Amino acid sequence: MRKGIGVSPGVAVGQAYCVDEIFVNPEHTQLAEQEVFAEWCRFEKACERTSAELRALQQKVSRQVGKDQVGVFQSQEAILRDPAFIGKVRDQIVRYLRPSPAALEIVFKEYDQLRAKTKDAYLKQRLLDLHDVVIRLSGQLSPLLKEDGAPDETPRVLVAKELLPWHIVAIGGLALSGIVTQTGGRTSHAAILARRRGIPAVTAARGVCDHCANGDLIVVDGRNGTVIVHPDPEQESAYRKLQREFVDLRGKLAENRDRPARTADGVELTLLANINGVEDAQAAGAMGAGGVGLYRTEYLFLSHPAVPSEEEQLANYRQVIAAAPGKRVTIRTLDLGGDKTIPFLGHDREANPFMGWRSIRLSFEHPEFFLEQIRAVLRAAAAPEGADADITLLFPMITTLEEIRRIRAMVRKAGKQLAAEKKPYRFVPFGLMLEVPAAAFTIESLLREVDFVSIGSNDLVQYLMAADRDNPKVSHLCEPLSPPVLRVLQRVIQSCNRAGKPVNLCGEMAGDPRSFVLLLGMGLRTFSMSPALIPTIKDLAAQITLEQAAAVMSDVSSQRTTDQVRKLVGRRVHELAPNLELLESSN
Ligand code: PEP
Ligand code: MG
Repeated sequence: MRKGIGVSPGVAVGQAYCVDEIFVNPEHTQLAEQEVFAEWCRFEKACERTSAELRALQQKVSRQVGKDQVGVFQSQEAILRDPAFIGKVRDQIVRYLRPSPAALEIVFKEYDQLRAKTKDAYLKQRLLDLHDVVIRLSGQLSPLLKEDGAPDETPRVLVAKELLPWHIVAIGGLALSGIVTQTGGRTSHAAILARRRGIPAVTAARGVCDHCANGDLIVVDGRNGTVIVHPDPEQESAYRKLQREFVDLRGKLAENRDRPARTADGVELTLLANINGVEDAQAAGAMGAGGVGLYRTEYLFLSHPAVPSEEEQLANYRQVIAAAPGKRVTIRTLDLGGDKTIPFLGHDREANPFMGWRSIRLSFEHPEFFLEQIRAVLRAAAAPEGADADITLLFPMITTLEEIRRIRAMVRKAGKQLAAEKKPYRFVPFGLMLEVPAAAFTIESLLREVDFVSIGSNDLVQYLMAADRDNPKVSHLCEPLSPPVLRVLQRVIQSCNRAGKPVNLCGEMAGDPRSFVLLLGMGLRTFSMSPALIPTIKDLAAQITLEQAAAVMSDVSSQRTTDQVRKLVGRRVHELAPNLELLESSN
């Protein structure tokens, strides 16, 4: 049994599917002699598919970004023909009888050790290219894909050291019943993915990858962070019973999708969904969302072989608008950088990526993509799906007023260009994402120049506490219920309400019952969260009055430690809505 952080509530019991950092299946069985030829053919096929992928990428990048940018993909393709690399993998398969994912892993580790040691910049870069090729190859060899490339439907518990944004793209719609990661915190990608799917998850479960192999039975309790590998029969049957109750409760809450979101004293709330694509927009409707409060458009870029063109973006935004409940969508411009890197924007690895060249800062440096994205949104707003829709544009990671003015000039420029080209467009309200403390402290001044505010508490908390949200050694500090965070949130919400500017919160805490009660008590009325969490929050809202929420917030104001806040709010939520016990988190 291991203890981590419960980051998505509920209970799951199932077979483990282990993936390591680069997505190679680490199972090291021995092949029978007669299997060797078929295994080598499988590896060759994976190489062919990867090669085709890289060639398509070269063509797209050359068309859309410029011929000078294709070099990196050409070198990567050359690796697939490199006799030294391929010979080593072949040796592992043919001489040492290893399945190809294991063979690839062994060879990769050998090169990776060299990468750690070498001081030669050229060699280092080539080895980084090799890393990217291995990622692509191992994706092609994934046991979660059948021979024909179709996903396997059996739900499994995903076990990984860490989940990176590109893993999430690779996982796509694969059936999962739970997630466990060895690192990460409450707002890591694994946590966000799990909440998006409404499945239990535990992060920071130390050492779990060393004690769990593919196919092992594993229990995940996302309420308190418990993970059990090889449960005994009694544990298994107790947790299976809890899993059934969890699935029943989730189903029952989802039946309330058509009920309005209202507090017990009849105050209307707006519960919106955070989405990464068209399918999520559809799921948002099925969960009873009032609209889309955050469309993270970077996933369109991450899942695309090159920069999606303006026309491709336009088509995608139109689809999202058509699928969004109430035709309400907030489209956030590219939020890349940090840990979300894409190959066609360069390979630079920064010492402090979250404090560096990310998000709006990166968009300013690539005005060609940025302007195209703004143009695509303005055009989508004038398209048949968008004309009567409630569309807003949201800009991430705003730090200064100068940035807002620069954005406004870009939006005007996009409009002017479209008018000159006689392309239909419509200006839409624009808002800032509040996730940098500097912006929180100057909010009154910024508010005069934007139409609305969306609080990105995931980043706000990490920047406020100076603690990387994905680093398990410090992620305990990334605590939305800590007194300093609550104080800043209250200040921002009150400033927006006083100025009459709409404000919502789209960080992960919006869907956490305890945080929701406090935000309600601070005066927030619009919340955007993973679609799967909307039914729970709607049910909780119906059991609480504004006066009760304000009283909890007021009691919390005198608490001086996070632990005290957690305990106090946890107790109150339990008293107010005991039916939600299975979804409550105890840490
Ligand atoms: C946030 O920072 O709270 C947020 C919603 O944005 P992301 O998680 O995409 O950084
Ligand atoms: Mg953010």
